[in-house]
Amino acid sequence: MNHFELSGGELACEDVPLTRIADAVGTPVYVYSSATLERHYTVLRDTLAGAGLKDSLIAYAVKANSNVAVLKTLGRLGAGADTVSEGEIRRALAAGIPPGRIVFSGVGKTTAEIAFALETGVAEINIESEPELDLVNATAQGLSRRAEIAIRVNPDVEAGGHAKISTGKAENKFGVSFDEAERLYAKAANLAGVRPVGVACHIGSQITDLAPMEAAFVKMRGLVERLRSEGHTVERLDLGGGLGVPYFNQPTPPEPDAYAAMIARVMRGLDIQFAFEPGRMIAANAGVLLARVLHVNERPEGRRFLVLDAAMNDLVRPAMYDAYHDIRPVKPRPGEPVVYDVVGPICETGDTFTRDRALPPLEAGDLVAFMSAGAYGASMSSEYNSRPLVPEVMVKGADFAVVRPRPTYEDMLAREQPAPWL
Ligand SMILES: *Cc1c(COP(=O)(O)O)cnc(C)c1O
Repeated sequence: MNHFELSGGELACEDVPLTRIADAVGTPVYVYSSATLERHYTVLRDTLAGAGLKDSLIAYAVKANSNVAVLKTLGRLGAGADTVSEGEIRRALAAGIPPGRIVFSGVGKTTAEIAFALETGVAEINIESEPELDLVNATAQGLSRRAEIAIRVNPDVEAGGHAKISTGKAENKFGVSFDEAERLYAKAANLAGVRPVGVACHIGSQITDLAPMEAAFVKMRGLVERLRSEGHTVERLDLGGGLGVPYFNQPTPPEPDAYAAMIARVMRGLDIQFAFEPGRMIAANAGVLLARVLHVNERPEGRRFLVLDAAMNDLVRPAMYDAYHDIRPVKPRPGEPVVYDVVGPICETGDTFTRDRALPPLEAGDLVAFMSAGAYGASMSSEYNSRPLVPEVMVKGADFAVVRPRPTYEDMLAREQPAPWL
């Protein structure tokens, strides 16, 4: 459920008509609903607790939507943060998320980033390879620290979803095999700079079928039991993120209670603290990208292009992952649906949001909303074509606030400097 509904004939976010935001901030602009973010987090937390998975660490995957206002909204409810760079750790800290609830993941952490994480005192560094284990150990010893680590395992399951966001097959770059995990855990237990506290996995994103997750989690339980039988302490089992969200017209993902029930069943009797790293399921349906129609371009060859002021630099998912976003007029006009190719102004054919989409009739100047754009939208945006970074707005009830302003052209140019010989 989300809080983007028609009210008095036009689309609103909570109690704020989207037209008001477009008039005040301009388009394109991302709009987030606090109530939806809060609801998604609390539903997951309460569902996990209800299934008996109490005191789980829910570390929101910052990369899905890293705006500090989003992180603060979730952090206030007790969410932790799953981070993949020093920048993300800094964002989580800026949002007031305590280091004890921050997990540091990622396949290519630099020495400087590891040192920063150690000095910050993050709860867990997820180790993705043996060279990384050695690097974290050496870095921690150099700082007279002991890093709490989890070994990230690649469970070698096919999770569905798009190939570019699937992470759980042996051929992907993430994690180590089960055999290697056992060996690395034993090695880590004898290193002075690290303390292994658990094991982790994350098999992919936008997963709409529980079966591959269940297969992976059964294997993870087996690993915990083997490690314990070898005399190791295993306190935490990090099951990653990846649960899909309904993107309209797309395969329906499992409900959180089915997900929680499956985990409770697989893990019955295993005394351990669970950690989760949900990103998309918290943020995706809590945001829309609002854009304005620049032209309706009817071509003699028969195609009808809806040219928007938003482009692939603002929302890259359709170009990069062939992603589907429901597109809704903010003030729907009456009339039969019309078939459009919806495109942005960028000079490449990839800047196409969708082809042959039947939509209510639209005219130049109308506003449209890309639904389910709260995750992997603004956080993947760029200034390609020298289009200033897309702004972000947070709504709460009848209030809204600009939480990332649109840079001016002067701001954009001020970030560069001339080479001395130019
Ligand atoms: C991307 C990522 C997540 C979040 O994935 P979602 O599909 O957004 O839930 C969680 N953990 C790790 C390690 C990731 O890389």
